[in-house]
Amino acid sequence: MKFGGTSVADLERIRRVGRLVAAEVATGKQVAVVVSAMSGKTNELVAWTDGAGAAAQGLPPSDDEYDVVVASGEQVTAGLLAMTLRNMGLNARSWMGWQVPIITDDAHGRARIDEIPPENLARAMDNGEIAVIAGFQGVDRQGRIATLGRGGSDTSAVAIAAAVGGACDIYTDVDGVYTTDPRIESKARKLARISYEEMLEMASLGAKVLQTRSVELAMSQHVPLRVLSSFVEPGEAPGQGTIVCDEEEIVEKRIVSGVAYSRDEAKVSLFGLPDTPGVSSKIFGRLADANVNVDMIVQSHARSEGAANMEFTVGKRDAARAVEIVRQAQKDIGFEDVQLNEDVAKVSVIGVGMRSHAGVAKTMFTALAEKGVNIQVISTSEIKISVLIDAAYTELAVRALHAAYELDKV
Ligand code: ADP
Ligand code: ASP
Ligand code: MG
Repeated sequence: MKFGGTSVADLERIRRVGRLVAAEVATGKQVAVVVSAMSGKTNELVAWTDGAGAAAQGLPPSDDEYDVVVASGEQVTAGLLAMTLRNMGLNARSWMGWQVPIITDDAHGRARIDEIPPENLARAMDNGEIAVIAGFQGVDRQGRIATLGRGGSDTSAVAIAAAVGGACDIYTDVDGVYTTDPRIESKARKLARISYEEMLEMASLGAKVLQTRSVELAMSQHVPLRVLSSFVEPGEAPGQGTIVCDEEEIVEKRIVSGVAYSRDEAKVSLFGLPDTPGVSSKIFGRLADANVNVDMIVQSHARSEGAANMEFTVGKRDAARAVEIVRQAQKDIGFEDVQLNEDVAKVSVIGVGMRSHAGVAKTMFTALAEKGVNIQVISTSEIKISVLIDAAYTELAVRALHAAYELDKV
């Protein structure tokens, strides 16, 4: 059972989590619980590190002390939930990532889990103890605390389920995965089931209900995964939530399953590039060396002979650094001008049905055109189409697409 930030936002909610855990234990299951920090806590901790450390000096915000600070929110909630369960007469103890241990690589701030030796947890759970595990954190092979990237408690939970051989229930502040973010479109419908592939795309395209890596891991390790609400009392009709499963297990086929959006985008435009081999390699090689993740890319011919323009998107946090990196190499790359636009958003439609149906893109472009939304960049894959638009039109675009694919009627 994993509980996110809003589910453990205060002591009353932690007590309700305690009741949900107790009810699960009462059915005779062995239970491990993964908790996030109280909502807002991690943002506060990140802001402190920005003020004190790496980012303040213009360096990439990735170091081991960053992780020491931001991992602390989960230590608090793990302790509080274990205490709460004990006060209810249950046998529980908290576990920090290093105690389990959840062993990660050393990419601090975005570490990946390498392995979780299950013996310690299994022994405790076999003795009837509820394991309350701090999400988001692990330990690298040098013994330093590492965190798994924002939203990483989902991944902690799936990894623990895989390690001890269980199923993973993600309890959050919505009662499942919806056709789009229910906070933006009140007509969004809850999906009874969604395939791993679609969920993977939805997550990586901005639907933060599950961290992308958690879906990747569930898919590769065959962990049964479910998303459901923590805002119910045990015994109340809990609803089935949403089951994330193999495509073959979904009887009802849809062409488009959902619409996702991300405001965490920035667009870098390079003008007047030489139209010769090797230019892209120079630009993106430098960005890769600096660990800047590039998403959408378009190149077009400029008016003048032999010249080209290029646009690409990066995460907002990397934007200034990306511009700095290309500026420093302006002579070598040979462009005339660079511009940064942070007022952009990426809106995507996702569905496995696209593989076999024509006209999905047409519906998207028509719906956006009818609302007067200009498309700046387009990118596609087998099961998704993404467009980059002016951030001011994000909600409008999401709602227009939701209606265009009749997702309110799912
Ligand atoms: P937690 O703190 O429990 O990890 P998150 O805030 O990370 O919760 O994720 C839950 C939120 O994800 C919801 O409150 C909702 O606004 C957002 N969300 C975005 N897209 C979707 C979607 N397609 N279905 C459900 N929730 C979504
Ligand atoms: N507390 C961490 C975050 O806000 C991890 C999580 O909640 O999943 O990113
Ligand atoms: Mg989350």
